Amino acid sequence: MRYPEVIDKLKILLSQAKPDVALAQLAVDLGLDTQKALSVIQKSVESYVKSRLLQAITRDLEEAKPPLEKINVTDLVFPCLRHAFYSKKFFEEKRGRLPDLLGMWIGVKLHETRIFSSHEIELEYNGIFGRVDGYEDEILLELKTTRAIPPEPYPHHVKQVEYYRVLLEKSGRPVKFAVILYVNVNDLTTKVFPILFDRSVEEVEEELIKRKKELEEALQKDIPPPPIPDEPWACDYCRFAYLCGYQAIKEEKAKN
Ligand code: SF4
Repeated sequence: MRYPEVIDKLKILLSQAKPDVALAQLAVDLGLDTQKALSVIQKSVESYVKSRLLQAITRDLEEAKPPLEKINVTDLVFPCLRHAFYSKKFFEEKRGRLPDLLGMWIGVKLHETRIFSSHEIELEYNGIFGRVDGYEDEILLELKTTRAIPPEPYPHHVKQVEYYRVLLEKSGRPVKFAVILYVNVNDLTTKVFPILFDRSVEEVEEELIKRKKELEEALQKDIPPPPIPDEPWACDYCRFAYLCGYQAIKEEKAKN
């Protein structure tokens, strides 16, 4: 009997008899002793609830994903524009193991929480879109969920707040400094890093627009940008390493 049938059968039996009698009858129907029948009930209910949880999480993650047709700040912060190109071309529906999806879902829910007075601010500048997690008293807040809090903020996270600063400033909201709040979804520890900008708005704006143009052009011509030469950490972490050819090169090097 599959788990929905076990649950249906159990519900019918519970509507006709007390739980111990219903359980004994179910055990007879399943051809098992009572202990094994209890274990089948446990597994059936667990499968039912977890599959519903998975469906609900997948739905929330789909609703929260950034619009693919627009160029977003998050497309431009990773060091490799080739990665951004593949993300736009081969975006996959959210699939994965329940613990991974749960981690992502906690991130989505964290972002729905208002921490600073201005929250989830939708911005656009020069065809670049972004959603700022929080802004208050000229401070920009960026939230990150992780499974290990880094000793220092990741460079692409710092770049992300620099890019958001440009979008905020261009919309008339000055930014004195930013804060990145990491939340570890494994052990629920948190850490806050203040980010004092060492580049001017103009300098960052120039870089942002240049990268946007490069990505836009690559997408229009349907030609991936060149791979990045000096960022092995990014390639090791990249889900397009096979497509890009990096993985094959890495495996070849490991053989020699
Ligand atoms: S493997 Fe490296 S070079 Fe290739 S797309 Fe990914 S990050 Fe870019």
